[in-house]
Amino acid sequence: MSHEGIRLMTPEESARQEQAERQLPRIAVTPEKVRVLLTEGRGLEIDWVDGHKSAWTFNWLRDACPCATCNDERRQEGRKPGEPKKKPADLLPMYTPPAKPATAHAVGRYAIQFNWLDGHSGGIYSWEYLRRQCQCQECTFTDAETSGAPN
Ligand SMILES: [Zn+2]
Repeated sequence: MSHEGIRLMTPEESARQEQAERQLPRIAVTPEKVRVLLTEGRGLEIDWVDGHKSAWTFNWLRDACPCATCNDERRQEGRKPGEPKKKPADLLPMYTPPAKPATAHAVGRYAIQFNWLDGHSGGIYSWEYLRRQCQCQECTFTDAETSGAPN
């Protein structure tokens, strides 16, 4: 007898899910300052109008590319945005240079786009996408808890 498919949610869990699906307030997806740390090679930092601060490395951003091709690839491999590609175990370790954009530019008032040195440039990173993928401790805490807990 299998109980698969039956899933009871605690009030905390459904509250959390509601929060994940909830529309973010405008001040949470409006950047006050956007810093692309190109020369340092460090990544992207955004200070949001609501006071929150987010930062992502270029490697993370490259692995979170929101273009259709990369989205499909991640879905097929079961990777979350920002999760590096799994390397086949039978391959000799190869040096992969860290991801870095040659340039970055704003797309309208809602997104940023990177021209990666590997030639890829299709991904348009909307402010909302980035805010939902904030990697700070506060934002990743609930995530780690829900995906890591055995049912
Ligand atoms: Zn892509």
